[in-house]
Amino acid sequence: GLLRRRANLLCVGLDNSGKSTAHEEVVPTVGFSVEMFERGKVSFTIFDMSGQGKYRDLWRHYFSEADGIIFVIDSADRDRIVVAREELALMLENKVLAKRPIPVLFLANKMDLENGLSPVECSEALGLDRIRDRAWNISACNALTGEGLEAGLEWIIDMLR
Ligand code: GDP
Repeated sequence: GLLRRRANLLCVGLDNSGKSTAHEEVVPTVGFSVEMFERGKVSFTIFDMSGQGKYRDLWRHYFSEADGIIFVIDSADRDRIVVAREELALMLENKVLAKRPIPVLFLANKMDLENGLSPVECSEALGLDRIRDRAWNISACNALTGEGLEAGLEWIIDMLR
């Protein structure tokens, strides 16, 4: 972590994808409650995308402040990967975000669960190859043990320099 300046990372994803676990937080996100905490020079803001259509307008505030986005995917939730794809598309269409080419780190979480999608399968299901206007990366992780998290975070923090 050799960041010279402070940075804001926005952590999003469907409910139950593992956002809070990835950040060792115990407070569940309810409604539009937003969790915030700091690690060194990086501040993280976490919010749930599920069922928050009515709050979508408020997102532009977060997008205008963010230096990078972490999009957490429950790789074992095959039924809702299409919902994650829709939420991602809506997010990327946001006017504020569309103008800011900040990097997106995708975390294919719950890699410990059998029958989960691999990072390649996740990126196919989410259509990540269509993202051409910003840097993105996907890594598998297990938020419960922290496996794979460091590597992902290292990538995005590198992109912020
Ligand atoms: P959030 O709604 O996105 O904040 O999701 P949570 O962090 O609350 O996690 C939802 C559930 O998934 C909890 O029961 C976690 O213990 C579990 N979970 C999170 N990450 C992992 C993981 O990597 N592997 C497994 N097996 N379970 C996980």
